[in-house]
Amino acid sequence: SDSHFPVPISPSQFDYSLHYPQIFPSSDQADGSRKIQFADIGCGFGGLLISLSTLFPETLMIGMELRDKVTEYVKERILSLRVANPGQYQNVSVVRTNSMKYIPNYFEKAQLTKMFFLFPDPHFKEKNHRRRVISPFLLDEYAYVLKAELEADPVVKLLSSATEEGQKVARNGGQTFQAVFRRIVPSDKT
Ligand code: SAM
Repeated sequence: SDSHFPVPISPSQFDYSLHYPQIFPSSDQADGSRKIQFADIGCGFGGLLISLSTLFPETLMIGMELRDKVTEYVKERILSLRVANPGQYQNVSVVRTNSMKYIPNYFEKAQLTKMFFLFPDPHFKEKNHRRRVISPFLLDEYAYVLKAELEADPVVKLLSSATEEGQKVARNGGQTFQAVFRRIVPSDKT
């Protein structure tokens, strides 16, 4: 069972001051605008996070790891880096959790700008497929927490507000839906 590790009941209950004490000195979430943006799923020993921490010093990031001992190791690794390099590695942390169950407890819709799945356990045998971190069912969940590229594109807002038809729908209190297509490059058939 997962009852031996705590899970926030919702993203707003996640204690940023515990994970990023220099950035959030008190547990009142005064600066709710600053949220975790990168998640390393199954972060293992944390090497990627450590590199990303200095590459994106303004971005809050977290590793999610199922194994207790490995998570503890990453915690210690981050703490000693913080001590050895004052002011650095304050934006990186780790939680012990089952990412296949609890992603929506940690992140709101469209909160994340990047999710990393580096060398997830492949589980080749069919009876172990349910343990795969990447599966069609979970892709929906990952899409939910990821920020869409569309939000950064200034044209997208115009799609529902600039055309006359769009304005008519808005006037009538209707809804519009966007469909996004991405070309899949066919593999070389030679
Ligand atoms: N990403 C790291 C790397 O590239 O070095 C670790 C890769 S390791 C092969 C896969 C990691 O995913 C393991 O540490 C494992 O404990 C973790 N893992 C597997 N299933 C998980 C789950 N459901 N939630 C969180 N972590 C998981």
